[in-house]
Amino acid sequence: MAKSTAHSNTPSYILAIDQGTTSTRAFLLDETMRICGVAQQEFEQHFPNSGWVEHDVNDIWGSVLTTCQDVIQHNDIDIQAIRGIGITNQRETVIAWHKTTLEPVYNAIVWQDRRGTAFCDELRKRRLDGMVQQKTGLLVDPYFSASKMRWILHNVPEARALCDEGLLCFGTVDSYLIAKLSGGAHVTDVTNASRTQLFNIQSLQWDPALCDVFEIPMASLPAVQACDSLFAHADAGLFGAAIPICGVAGDQQAALIGQGCFNVGDIKSTYGTGCFALLNTGTHPVQSNNRLLTTVAYQIDGEVHYALEGSIFVAGAAIQWLRDGLQVIDSAAQSEACAQQADEHQSLFLVPAFTGLGAPYWNSDARGALFGITRATSANELCKAALESIVYQSVDLFTSMHDDLSSMAHTSQGGALTNAIRVDGGMVANDWLMQFLADMLNTQIDVPNSIETTVLGAAYLAGKHLGMYNDVRSDSNNAHIKRTFTPSKDAAWRAARLMQWHAAVNSTLQFHQPNEPSPS
Ligand code: ADP
Repeated sequence: MAKSTAHSNTPSYILAIDQGTTSTRAFLLDETMRICGVAQQEFEQHFPNSGWVEHDVNDIWGSVLTTCQDVIQHNDIDIQAIRGIGITNQRETVIAWHKTTLEPVYNAIVWQDRRGTAFCDELRKRRLDGMVQQKTGLLVDPYFSASKMRWILHNVPEARALCDEGLLCFGTVDSYLIAKLSGGAHVTDVTNASRTQLFNIQSLQWDPALCDVFEIPMASLPAVQACDSLFAHADAGLFGAAIPICGVAGDQQAALIGQGCFNVGDIKSTYGTGCFALLNTGTHPVQSNNRLLTTVAYQIDGEVHYALEGSIFVAGAAIQWLRDGLQVIDSAAQSEACAQQADEHQSLFLVPAFTGLGAPYWNSDARGALFGITRATSANELCKAALESIVYQSVDLFTSMHDDLSSMAHTSQGGALTNAIRVDGGMVANDWLMQFLADMLNTQIDVPNSIETTVLGAAYLAGKHLGMYNDVRSDSNNAHIKRTFTPSKDAAWRAARLMQWHAAVNSTLQFHQPNEPSPS
């Protein structure tokens, strides 16, 4: 792509890094937040033990360096025109490194890794889960960083030795990337800190009692900063200029920002392999009664906003199963035509509890089920049932959010879910799914022009710090929402379907797999 001269004589760019679970991408965005260059590199996943997931830290860093250098070179950008760097990243993943050499002491332990299960069970037995939830907004679970850090200290002798010498640094991926880019800064942002399970989301500081419980020395943790602050400068030797790193947020929070969800009640919902929904609840954390997570949404212009977060384990994964497992469709996109052609008189319900059911059921022993099969059931009905199941799970999730918000009705955070829902992720390409979502939620669904919402969020934060995006909204790429889906069904239509869905879920929960523990 040629050097951009479209907007002024001295064009300005933000370099935005999206360090994800399976690949790293680097983007260049101009003064209008238009994406004008991208480079991507995948890296290997390591599964050294059952339930363990690791990344080679040097693969992560190598992919960041290569994609950044590639996107700068291939777009022929004058390095002086790159005014800032924004980072968004896979959350909860833990890296431990030597303070001065920056050498990692172990692989990155990835968010999906379950090795902290036994310790988390122990914390629940010690009845510490209430205290952890009250301080962090999170449920005690090996998904979060703290039990992974503890495992490293207990199992990697070099980590313990460095810790004793005061030379061990722990951090999430953003923190390690800033250390490598800058040559040693040890910092993170509030959103990533809020996913470690060591961060008090009320005081916005590392919590001594939590560090004590997980046996993590506070000195090994990074300094925590606002998302739109100056974190460090990238070493001039890397890209040819000392570029400020001035925007950081975890991936789901970055998507919230990239979708422009800055008002109380704004929701973004990402439909990828799984589904992650975040609801902006304003300047005070809302504690969930439905086992949703309370998390820091962002700190911008000095003001902290919180979010309620819920996830659905199986969204696009159900379509992958139809394509790769059952092989009843050739592509994910084909599911749309199948759903359109399905016999509307058939009533088929799929409960895709492949790995249990999330909010509000929280049953990890549940397994999937299909209800209403007849001789006439074909791939079309199966695809329709799979797509519908994603929507029914969304209804349950948003109902939980609505409940939590209603219970705050007496406060400024309280109220009902009334705003349109802004969606992103690979599944939003499916119009049939989006219309069914609008109909079942009885809410407008907005699909943005650019579904690169995480990277827009990271770039927005950096540009905001620099004063570059004063007149640009983070969702400016999406100023013209690409497609809007409006509800077109009545309450009776919705109620009839939901009743059948809940009957299907209840039957599924009553079915006990032989050789598996009974649901409690
Ligand atoms: P992730 O970031 O989790 O890898 P993506 O946002 O890239 O996921 O979305 C990919 C998922 O979306 C896959 O699970 C795929 O099955 C699903 N998907 C992609 N296109 C469609 C479509 N047109 N209809 C239904 N599902 C789709």
